[in-house]
This record gives sequence, structure tokens and C-alpha cells, in this order.
Amino acid sequence: MGKIRVGILGATGLVGQMYAKLLEDHPWFEVSYVAASPSSAGKRYSDAVAGRWHSGAKIPANVGQLKVQDASAVEKALGECSFVFSALEMDKAAIRYLENEYAENDIPVVSNASAHRWTEDVPMLIPEINYQHLDMIPIQKKNHCWKKGFVVVKPNCSLQSYLTPIYALMKGGFTVKRLIITTLQAVSGAGYPGVDTLDIVDNVLPFISGEEEKSEEEPLKILGKIENDKFVNNDSIIISAHCNRVSVLDGHTACVSVEFGERKPSKEEVLQVWRQFRSLPQELNLPFAPEQPIIYLEEEDRPQPRKDRENDKGMAVTVGRLRKCNVFDFRFVGVSHNTIRGAAGGGILNAELLKAKGFLG
Ligand code: NAP
Repeated sequence: MGKIRVGILGATGLVGQMYAKLLEDHPWFEVSYVAASPSSAGKRYSDAVAGRWHSGAKIPANVGQLKVQDASAVEKALGECSFVFSALEMDKAAIRYLENEYAENDIPVVSNASAHRWTEDVPMLIPEINYQHLDMIPIQKKNHCWKKGFVVVKPNCSLQSYLTPIYALMKGGFTVKRLIITTLQAVSGAGYPGVDTLDIVDNVLPFISGEEEKSEEEPLKILGKIENDKFVNNDSIIISAHCNRVSVLDGHTACVSVEFGERKPSKEEVLQVWRQFRSLPQELNLPFAPEQPIIYLEEEDRPQPRKDRENDKGMAVTVGRLRKCNVFDFRFVGVSHNTIRGAAGGGILNAELLKAKGFLG
């Protein structure tokens, strides 16, 4: 069986470049279409990213020779790819409009952008957690009268360092009531050129616009359910987030305090839940699924972004420092790779799940 031809919107940006790199030898997908802003359109991809390529030693040859299209010219994508990954950074209303246009033209969209995260009928997916939300796709298609196209999104990258460990504990039978989260987020999370050197070197920025709201609110949709063809948030969890930009290239860290309901796990029970946690992507043996989604490290000074962000293809969440909390019940630290698990790798895993469930190609 031939590979499915895929497109990347925003292919020249940091996340788009990571898609190009991660898809180079993908067993199911091959990149056949790249698009970005009018200033890159018309150039060969390798020329469009010259001087700003940040995803490894070399540009994948198959993508490097493609001509970059203007992402707004949807007609250029027709017949060139079966679905697109969207890594656009532009006005949210414009992204929503454009992603809908691709869907309307029978091209499903697997998006990293925040524009559609709160659209009523758009699933916000972490495949290990809420794969059941794929049930919304037929409803979305019906709502828009779309035949083949649809839109799914992934959540903000900051969530990835703590939500899967928290969900694993909920699935293990422990009610989670409140979370206090402090994130230490890498500069690559701001795209390219992103944060100015003079602002971030030797410094911590205690504000990332919109990030605390996303960290507090997006988990409620992801942990929610579908009722009467609508998403119903899980409002039983209260989250308080402090989000900081730190001088780390890749890898978001989250320091988490968690309060459980009446049934409190022991430390051994928490560790057992994390070590044993597996979900549908592992059962389906999806190519980008981490074998062990949550890796616990015993060393007292781990996890660290530089040492642990690449664990299991950059797709695992690495946790450590599980200990009693003097205010809530437990504290721990989580690390995940923001441009892999938190962006392009997470998007690819979403697409693999969609393919395995018969929604693509
Ligand atoms: P970025 O480096 O700034 O790249 C932005 C991309 O959007 C470029 O390809 C750019 O094309 C394209 N673009 C900008 N204006 C456009 C327009 N008017 N029409 C068409 N294309 C346009 O941003 P990024 O960090 O890769 O982020 C991409 C998306 O992923 C964003 O929505 C972001 O919120 C999300 N995200 C990022 C991360 C992360 O860790 N960085 C994690 C999760 C989600 P040109 O090069 O031609 O200007």
C-alpha cells in the first residue's frame, strides 16, 4: 500500500519544520505539499527556510525541493494531498476560516493552532486520554455538510507535561479535585524568531500571554465527555497555573501539586498507576506512540528538559520527584518536548489515530 500524501500549512515555521523532519521516514505518510505566508510562497522550501532551519542538521531532501504555496490558495492543495497538518501562526479568525475552507474542500485538517480549540464540534485530542472524542467528527461533518473534510486540534503544549500523569491517576480510580501548576516553558514554544535574546538570556519571564488560561481551561474540555452531540466540560477539577518562559531551547517543565478526593493514593499506588498506564495508541501500536507514555525517574534531580525531553522519540512525559505536599496531597515534576509531543509529534499521533480509526485516506 502506498503512503498517504500529506500537506503542511505553516511549513516554514518552527512547528512546520518539525513536521517536515519527523515525517521524513514515516511509514504511513509522506509530505507532498507545503504552504506558508505569501512571503514564502513561490520559493523552493529549502530556499524559504534558508538561514532559519532549526530542526536538525539537514532539511529532508523530499521536502526541500517542494515549491511553497500560499496557504490561503486552497485550490492549490486539491489533488496534491489527502489531508493537512496546520501549524499556522496568524490571526485566529483567519486560521479558523482557512482551516474550514480546507475541510470544506474535502481535505481534513489536523491542527496545532489554538483557533479552533473551543469550537463546539471540534475535538481537542490527546490520543492517550480522549480518543472517544473522535465520535464528534461525524457530528461536525453533518453540522457543516462536509463530505470528507473535518478539523481536529491538539491542545496547548504546556498541558502535555502534566495532564497525562493526572489523567492516568483519574483512570486508576482516584478523583482529582485541585491542581496548582507552575510551568517553566522553553523559548521554542514562542515560535521563530520568538522571544528576544536580550529579554530571555539570564532571565525568567513570568508572563506568557494567554498561556495560564489555556493551561487551566483546556484540560476541562479534554477530560470532558460528549452528551447530546455536544462536548460537556469536566468542571469538577480546579486548576491554578503560573506560566513562565525560561532560557531553555526545547522542553516544557511543569511543577505540580495535586489534591485528591476522599480516596488518597499512596506513593506506591501513584507510581504503579504511572508505570502501568497504557492506552489506545499503545494498543494499536501506532508508529509515534511512546511505548511507555509516562516514564518515572527515581533520581532526585530529574526530570530535566535537556536530559529527558527526547525520551521515547520525544513522545513520552517524563516525571519525577513524587513526594508529599504540605498543602495538597502530592507534588511532582513533569517534562515533555514542546515541539515534538507538544506540537508536531502530537499532531502526527492524532493523524495516526485518525487513520487507524478509518477517518483518513
Ligand atoms: P512560527 O515559527 O511563527 O511559524 C508560523 C508559520 O505560519 C510560518 O510557516 C509562517 O509562514 C506561517 N504564516 C504566518 N502568517 C501567515 C499568513 N498570513 N498566511 C499563511 N501562513 C502564514 O510559529 P510556530 O511556533 O511554528 O507555531 C505554529 C502554530 O503551532 C501556532 O499556531 C502555535 O500556537 C502552535 N503551537 C506551537 C508550539 C511550539 O512549541 N512552538 C506548540 C504547540 C502549538 P512564513 O514563514 O512564510 O512567514
